[in-house]
Amino acid sequence: MNRVYLDYAATAPTDPEVTKAMEPYLFEKFGNASSIHSFGQEAKKGIEDARQMLAEFIGARPEEIIFTSGGTEADNQAIKGVAFAMQDKGDHIVTTAIEHHAVTEPCKFLEKHGFKTTFVGVDKDGLVSPDEIKKAITDKTILISVMHANNEIGTIQPVSEIGSIAKEKGICFHTDAVQTVGHIPVNVNELNADLLSLSAHKFYGPKGVGALYVRKGTRIESLIHGGDQEKGRRASTYNTPGIVGLGKAVQLCKAKMENEVKFQIVLRDKIIKEILNKIPDVRLNGHTTKRLPNNANVSIKFIEGESMLLSLDMLGIACSTGSACTSTSLEPSHVLLAIGLPHEIAHGSLRVTLGRWTKEEEVDYFLENLPKVVQRLRAMSPLYEKK
Ligand code: PLP
Repeated sequence: MNRVYLDYAATAPTDPEVTKAMEPYLFEKFGNASSIHSFGQEAKKGIEDARQMLAEFIGARPEEIIFTSGGTEADNQAIKGVAFAMQDKGDHIVTTAIEHHAVTEPCKFLEKHGFKTTFVGVDKDGLVSPDEIKKAITDKTILISVMHANNEIGTIQPVSEIGSIAKEKGICFHTDAVQTVGHIPVNVNELNADLLSLSAHKFYGPKGVGALYVRKGTRIESLIHGGDQEKGRRASTYNTPGIVGLGKAVQLCKAKMENEVKFQIVLRDKIIKEILNKIPDVRLNGHTTKRLPNNANVSIKFIEGESMLLSLDMLGIACSTGSACTSTSLEPSHVLLAIGLPHEIAHGSLRVTLGRWTKEEEVDYFLENLPKVVQRLRAMSPLYEKK
């Protein structure tokens, strides 16, 4: 049976060149990077080279990078870290209705500790208006957090404009760039970001490692105590192989991203066009042009996303019906509800995401099978009968 992976936004396979770069740090260079002997020092060098590589890639300074266990920790560190450090200045956070749970849940946690959050809505394409963000700011606002691109519908936000509003008002600005780093150009200065989260497994690095960029001078409280790693900002023995792998993944993206993006846009547009042409009663979710090069998301009316996923899985095709983290829940995704989709249409959503190893034949196999799957499911659907 063909096996076709079209769920790169959930996670990507690790590039073999990345695992090759990591391997020595599991065996001969296994030392604890905090140790002063040569075993420790060679591990430390691997980490510092990766830090340098990442910093250059996003326009930062090496000392502004904190390695974390992934995107979720980076988001938690940014939101709670700034809130706790700045509580003498205010208690209000502005974010959006379509953030990843790694941002919304820390905000909700903070609400239990006296903080307040405004969740700014989005338009039908999932775009946040900088004016709406501006209107939500109060004299108690200490943090604005707006994601660079949405993980479900792929819409790319006007982050640079929002960052400049934050800068003008002297408010800290965080962006979750987990879906963009390694996929489109990301520069912390162009985005006017004080904090930026990223995660290696989304750009062909290993799982369980990420980073938070923290602009020099930003007040932030540590969340993990118990050691002086990362200059006391994040305790725990360094994940040397993971960090080295992240650095290698960055280096590969630097070399390959431009061509990969061009190819992915062609495939993405083919997917969108053919689905809209071949299957009736379908809508595209997310912005038509301001969208991630590897993301197609559609709502296919009168059927359930879960049944589509299972039918496609039986054909060896993997995609998603929302973010990886919500696919076990039957509640429609908060992102699709935020763009104004009624529950029944939100339930029929399908996300297809491409990556480094996606081949045109795989896309063709998917496009050949999806209409058949939809036709079969609709034939059994009481909703379709009543149409
Ligand atoms: N933020 C966004 C936008 C994501 O898409 C994800 C993962 O899906 C995360 C945060 C969490 O990242 P991690 O899986 O590295 O914890």
